[in-house]
Amino acid sequence: MLMNRAKALKILELLEKHYPNANIRLARNKFQLLIATVLSAQTADKQTIKAAKKLFRKYATPKKLAEASLKDIESAIREIGLYKIKAKRIKAIAKIINERYKGEVPASMEELLKLPGVGRKTANIVLGKGFGIAEGIAIDTHAFRISKRLGLSNAKTPASMEKDLMRIIPKKYWISFTDMLIMHGRNICKAQSPRCNECFLENLCEWKKD
Ligand code: SF4
Repeated sequence: MLMNRAKALKILELLEKHYPNANIRLARNKFQLLIATVLSAQTADKQTIKAAKKLFRKYATPKKLAEASLKDIESAIREIGLYKIKAKRIKAIAKIINERYKGEVPASMEELLKLPGVGRKTANIVLGKGFGIAEGIAIDTHAFRISKRLGLSNAKTPASMEKDLMRIIPKKYWISFTDMLIMHGRNICKAQSPRCNECFLENLCEWKKD
């Protein structure tokens, strides 16, 4: 069952008040944003940022990354999870962007989803943060967990949660929503032990503590 829109709006107002201008920066440009987001899958932010910085010091452009050897890419990102798979993916992405899109990241959901390892979460982040296009809502681990706890959606998968949330969250929040929940997840609504006593959303939240 979906939470009603009025309650969702109150939650959004409070999130915006506590996390004004939420904008988590992962990278300096659209290409690096895309690659850093692919690297971030199942990896802590700190590790992602560190690996991405190391990678972009040597391979800052699609052309350079496409021409790098797989071994060198692996060695630059080897501190993050699934680094071998990710190395293959980012090299393939760089090659496609370099050859098919003349070095420019495409600005459409349809084209982004054709890139290896790019799902709706990554595509939404790239479109939202890179191009300012609100095509959908990026559902990362924080957004998924906290939306459930709040009762915004009880969907079982990120894909169905995104559809639920797009029905109750006004479009103007689609880009900032994920960042606000990431900040809330890091600060208060932690995965293991949410600090509900300190939470400004407690009165609106449906999470039942044991
Ligand atoms: S009340 Fe607790 S579970 Fe609900 S959003 Fe706040 S910290 Fe998370």
